[in-house]
Amino acid sequence: MAGLRAEVANRLDGGTRIAEVEGRSSRGNLALTSNSDQPGAANPGLTLHTDFAPTYGAPQAVARNVVRIVCENPSPFTFKGTGTLIVTDETTKQAVVVDPGPENAAHLAALTGALAGYTLRHILVTHTHRDHSPLARVLQETAGGSIMGCAPYVASAEGAGSGLDASNDTDYAPDEEMADGDTIGIGSRRLTAVATPGHTANHLCFALDEDILLCGDHVMGWSTTVIAPPDGHMGSYMASLEKLGARAETRYLPAHGAMIEQPHRFVRGLITHRRQRETQIRKRLEAGDHTIAEMVPRLYPQLDTRLHRAAALSVRAHLDDLVERGEVVSDGADRFRLR
Ligand SMILES: [Zn+2]
Repeated sequence: MAGLRAEVANRLDGGTRIAEVEGRSSRGNLALTSNSDQPGAANPGLTLHTDFAPTYGAPQAVARNVVRIVCENPSPFTFKGTGTLIVTDETTKQAVVVDPGPENAAHLAALTGALAGYTLRHILVTHTHRDHSPLARVLQETAGGSIMGCAPYVASAEGAGSGLDASNDTDYAPDEEMADGDTIGIGSRRLTAVATPGHTANHLCFALDEDILLCGDHVMGWSTTVIAPPDGHMGSYMASLEKLGARAETRYLPAHGAMIEQPHRFVRGLITHRRQRETQIRKRLEAGDHTIAEMVPRLYPQLDTRLHRAAALSVRAHLDDLVERGEVVSDGADRFRLR
């Protein structure tokens, strides 16, 4: 099992490095990697911020009565580590923890230390990746509170034992599932679930007091988000990005990296980035490529070949989306062509 997890972690690591490589290729802007027939297009809305330097275990105030504690689980997938948020109401001395993180003793001690003097009412979970949800059970045993948030992970028949299946916390069992629009409160504070499937099928963001969106892994300021089928789904992800454009929040707090200011501009940049990649894939099909293996080295000409499998997951997500939209036909044997 440990070997399997390590292998999956490696794959996930690779998926995020792709975005890093793309980002560095244009001095910090996440432009597309150029290739001979499709030069990278400009995308000024998508400026990445990688200068985030947390002190592990130390609560840092990030908004009014919101602190973040970063777990020391850094990796190319988690950036500097998982940022757990603690929202408090100072009148009632109640607290909500959002995304407790992985099973990590030092992080548990840091959270319980920060919660001293508060009653922990709820433990909210955005999604069931192993760097987000497993500590919920242990934290509940230690500090109380009800586990709420996203639905449990459901393995698809297609994904069983393949893809990134083992990166999911299959033991997560909330006391109460939240659906889009469901709200919890502590004192005068409100946290409302915003269904945002795509990164995972069960992903939720949480709107805090109509000003800040606690956005989990749906939007991250340091990198694009990994969309790994079958639990990851490009069409859902794009719809979930569009959904945020119609919302009022003016700051986003992701689970990895720093606060995102001007989030609407950033989200437009994310949408542009995916549309640019989709255009490149359509052009590869026009040029006569039929398989993901043919496309990856041409779409990512500067990418380390060790990362090609991760790149292939991203291309797969785009191709699945084009098939679902009727633009591309798959013959079911991993061969694709334009309709
Ligand atoms: Zn995740």
